[in-house]
Amino acid sequence: MTIDAAALHDFQQAIGAANVITDLARLRSYECDGLTGYRVVPGLVLLPHTADEVAASVTVCATHRIPFVARGAGTGLSGGALPVADGVVISLARLRRVLEVDPVDRRAVLEPGVTNLDITRAAAPHGLYYAPDPSSQQVCTIGGNVAENSGGAHCLKYGFTTNHVLALEVVLADGSVVTLGGDSGEQAGPDLRGVFLGSEGTVGIATKITVRLLRTPETVRTLLADFPSIQAAGEVVSDIVAAGIVPAAVEMMDTLAIEAAEEAVHAGYTIGTPAALVVELDGPVEECDGQFEKVRAICEKHGCTRLHIAADNEERAAIWRGRKAAFAAVGRISPDYFVQDGVVPRTRLAEVLGRIADMGDEAGLRVANVFHAGDGNLHPLVLYSAAAGETERAEVLSGKIAELCVELGGSLSGEHGIGTDKACSMPKMFSEVDLDVMARVRDAFDPHQLCNPGKLLPTPRLCGERPGKFAPHPLEEAGVIERL
Ligand SMILES: Cc1cc2nc3c(=O)[nH]c(=O)nc-3n(C[C@H](O)[C@H](O)[C@H](O)COP(=O)(O)OP(=O)(O)OC[C@H]3O[C@@H](n4cnc5c(N)ncnc54)[C@H](O)[C@@H]3O)c2cc1C
Repeated sequence: MTIDAAALHDFQQAIGAANVITDLARLRSYECDGLTGYRVVPGLVLLPHTADEVAASVTVCATHRIPFVARGAGTGLSGGALPVADGVVISLARLRRVLEVDPVDRRAVLEPGVTNLDITRAAAPHGLYYAPDPSSQQVCTIGGNVAENSGGAHCLKYGFTTNHVLALEVVLADGSVVTLGGDSGEQAGPDLRGVFLGSEGTVGIATKITVRLLRTPETVRTLLADFPSIQAAGEVVSDIVAAGIVPAAVEMMDTLAIEAAEEAVHAGYTIGTPAALVVELDGPVEECDGQFEKVRAICEKHGCTRLHIAADNEERAAIWRGRKAAFAAVGRISPDYFVQDGVVPRTRLAEVLGRIADMGDEAGLRVANVFHAGDGNLHPLVLYSAAAGETERAEVLSGKIAELCVELGGSLSGEHGIGTDKACSMPKMFSEVDLDVMARVRDAFDPHQLCNPGKLLPTPRLCGERPGKFAPHPLEEAGVIERL
C-alpha cells in the first residue's frame, strides 16, 4: 500500500506536521544505515517525541497497512534500519531521556534513543556502569542495542545486551502497548523479553527499556601485547581461558588493522607487528594482580615481542581509542570496505584466520582483522575499491567468509545482526523447520508483516531460496480477509 493523502494527514494529526519529513532531500539522509551498499529512500520519516506518539504513529501504519522501520542512530552494519520503499521510518532519536537511575536496585530506566555511553555517564556518579559496550557506543542507541542484542569488547566476561535488559515497554504492530519482562528480572511464564532481544525491529518498537547496572570494578589492568604471528596470538587467547581466567576483554588486531588505527589515533600500537592483543582484567585488586602475572607469563611463553602495560587511565583510554576507532580508521588505507561479522569456536581462530587470508589472496583483495578474540567473534574487513570495479568480488568474498564461519561450527553473526545483508544466508545455518518456527513467532506479533519486513528471515521475493509459509495472502493485504 502506498502512502496516500489520507495516511499523510493521519500521520500529521498523530505527531504534528512539523515532525513528519516529506522532503526528498531530507528523506535521503535516512536511506541507509552503516551498511551503505543498500539504499532505499523511505516514503516518509516520522520524528515522534514520546512513547505515546510512537504508538499513535504505529496505529496509523496499522490502519493504512503501511510498513514501518524503527531507527535508532543508524549505525547498524547489517541493513536492519534500511527503509522500505513506500513505507515509513520511525526515528527514535528524539526519545533520549534517562528516566530513572536507581542506585539501590542498580537499574536504569531509559527511553530508546539514549546512547549506550550516556547510560554509563548517568550511572557513574553512583559508582555504577552499564556493561555492554559496542565500539559505536558514543552514538548507537539502547533501542538499537536491544534490537540487535549488541555485544562489545567487554561482553566476554559480562554477557551481551540480553543479559542486562530486565524489562521492555513495546509498541506492537497494531499500535497496542505491552510490557515484556519485569524490573525484578524474575517473571512467570515464557520469556517474551528474550524473544524481543535480537529480533531486529521485526516484532515491535521498544519505547522504554529497563537495564541492569553493575558496580564499577575496584581495579582495571590493561595490557597491549605484540606477537610474531596471528597463530601465536590465537594460542595466547586459548591458554588464558584454559588457565581458568576470564578477562573482561581480549581483542585481537592484525597488521593492517593496527596500521590503520595507529595512523588514525596514535594509540601507541607497533606498526608492522603481525598481531596485537589487548587484554583487560578487572575486579578486586588482589585477584587482578594475580591473574595479570599469569597472563603476562602466557604472553611471554608464546613469544610476545612487546608488552605494554597501561600505567594510568589515560594510557588505558589510548589503547581502547585505537581498538574502537579501527573500523572507521580502515577508511584511511582503503577507499571502500565491508565489515563482516561471524563467530567461530575459539579453538578454531588460527585456522579460520589462515583460511580467510588464503581466500583474500585468491580474490586478489586485502582483508584486515580486528575482533573480539575472547569469544571467537571475527570482524574481517574486506578492503576494495568500488571505482576499480571490485565491489562484486568483495561482496562475494565477504559472504564466503560468513559461510566459512558456519562451516567451522560457528555463526553467521556474532553481534551485528542478520538484517538485509544475511537474510538470504539464514538457510545455511537453520533448517526449514527452525526458520518456520521463527516465522510463526514473528507472525504472532505482527500478522500483517508491517514491522521491518524483509529483514532477518529469508523471503522468497528477496532470496528466491525457500517459499515463505507465512507470507500474507494478497486478499489479507487488501484488508478483505483476516488471518486469525
Ligand atoms: C564503527 C562501528 C562499530 C561498531 N561496533 C559494534 C560492536 O562492537 N558491537 C556490536 O554489537 N555492534 C557494533 N556496531 C553495530 C551497531 O552500532 C549496533 O548494531 C547498534 O546496536 C545499532 O544501534 P543503532 O541505534 O545505530 O540502531 P539502528 O542502526 O538505527 O537500528 C538497528 C536495528 O534496530 C532496530 N531498532 C532500532 N531502534 C529500535 C527500537 N527502539 N525498537 C525496535 N527496534 C529498533 C532497527 O529497526 C534495526 O533493525 C558497530 C557499528 C559501527 C558503525
